[in-house]
Amino acid sequence: MSKSFKLTLFSLSLQAKMSRPVQARRLEGIDKNIWVEFVKLATTYSKVNLGQGFPDFPAPDFLTEALTRVVSGGNHMLHQYTRAFGHPPLVKVLAQLFEKLLGRDLDPMTNVMVTVGAYQALFCCFQALVDEGDEVIIIEPFFDCYEPMVKMAGGTPVFVPLRPNPPKGGKLMSSADWQLDPTELASKFSERTKAIILNSPNNPLGKVFSCEELGLIAELCVKHDVLCISDEVYEWLVYDGKQHIRIASLQGMWDRTVIVGSAGKTFSATGWKVGWVVGPDRLLQHLRTVHQNSVYHCATIAQEAVAQGFQRELTLYGKPESYFVQLPKELQRKRDWLIQSLNAVGMKPIIPEGTYFLVADISPFKSDVPDVPNSDEPYDYRFVKWMVKNKGLAAIPLSAFYSEAHKNNYTNFIRFCFAKEDTTLKAANDILQKWKQEKTSS
Ligand code: PMP
Repeated sequence: MSKSFKLTLFSLSLQAKMSRPVQARRLEGIDKNIWVEFVKLATTYSKVNLGQGFPDFPAPDFLTEALTRVVSGGNHMLHQYTRAFGHPPLVKVLAQLFEKLLGRDLDPMTNVMVTVGAYQALFCCFQALVDEGDEVIIIEPFFDCYEPMVKMAGGTPVFVPLRPNPPKGGKLMSSADWQLDPTELASKFSERTKAIILNSPNNPLGKVFSCEELGLIAELCVKHDVLCISDEVYEWLVYDGKQHIRIASLQGMWDRTVIVGSAGKTFSATGWKVGWVVGPDRLLQHLRTVHQNSVYHCATIAQEAVAQGFQRELTLYGKPESYFVQLPKELQRKRDWLIQSLNAVGMKPIIPEGTYFLVADISPFKSDVPDVPNSDEPYDYRFVKWMVKNKGLAAIPLSAFYSEAHKNNYTNFIRFCFAKEDTTLKAANDILQKWKQEKTSS
């Protein structure tokens, strides 16, 4: 090869590398993600990590035993592909359960689809139902992937915040005190609105939407012919005798709602990544198109074991031995313990009605956290970084769950996860007690 020919090839390859943008336009502005930074901080500095939302206690024995049976049992076909839209035993048992919960007949093959966690269920919803130019209403604070998922689908997120109403008589605030302003919510619906995403029980606040609140949302959806993506991954984690109401069961809503669920949350096995959608075939048929052209299906063995878990729960439905009864009871005790520990040090916890998250007000600590000159980093971000480095306790700043436009109004709060072993909560309590002593002696 001549020297000049080699040189030409070299400059051509340089040009190829330099002239063309490699990043697809749909990724513009969505590349930042707080989890990367805060997970790294927690692993570097924390003694106790109450930041990320997953249990550090084991999944129930009946579930892990089911997986062992599946893996070591004689059916080698469970190691092969299964039906793309959901392993038949799993879609069948999910249909049976949701028939009971929704009070309507369901076809397991068309009204249920299994996904790779609730994450992929959400991705399928946005890709299948949202078009360029469509608006999607997102209630703040929100599970942070909703916004980039709407944008990747070409849609425009329209945000409406839950507004805190201070409780009377010096009581601790409850997640129920965070409410939608009905007029403000109604003003967000227009002919461009394609869907609203509802998350009840809500991550990060723990709010369980009341019948009246859901009624208002349903009325607006019907009036404006809007779809509802209803993220109900924490459906079984509801406390103090509260009830989780499924918006799909309200009048006029079944035909326009996709329910999103997660075995990870339901059975305390977030690493299994088994999720599902339940809804009318007219919507699910389009989700199936996205699903079959992207991931095809999730692990057959995990689906089979989750199916066996649900079969157990169906036979024990409503009984005290049911995991759906035991888990919230256990988590409510853990919630109350963390509330006490945080309260002692002067953080004002907002009592969550559901989920395994708890938001606390950190406004009394402003003088403890050093200002960073020339930095526009919000107070809650600074507080979490300071707390993890100085106290060894990790949490997540609440403003990360808000849109850019509204973030600055919600920088006085942080989120903790209380789905943790008692030993972890005790270690957190020890840190907080020591902190309290330091405060009183200084
Ligand atoms: N929705 C919400 C509200 C969540 O909090 C989570 C997980 N943190 C998911 C969906 C995703 O669930 P999965 O782990 O099943 O993908």
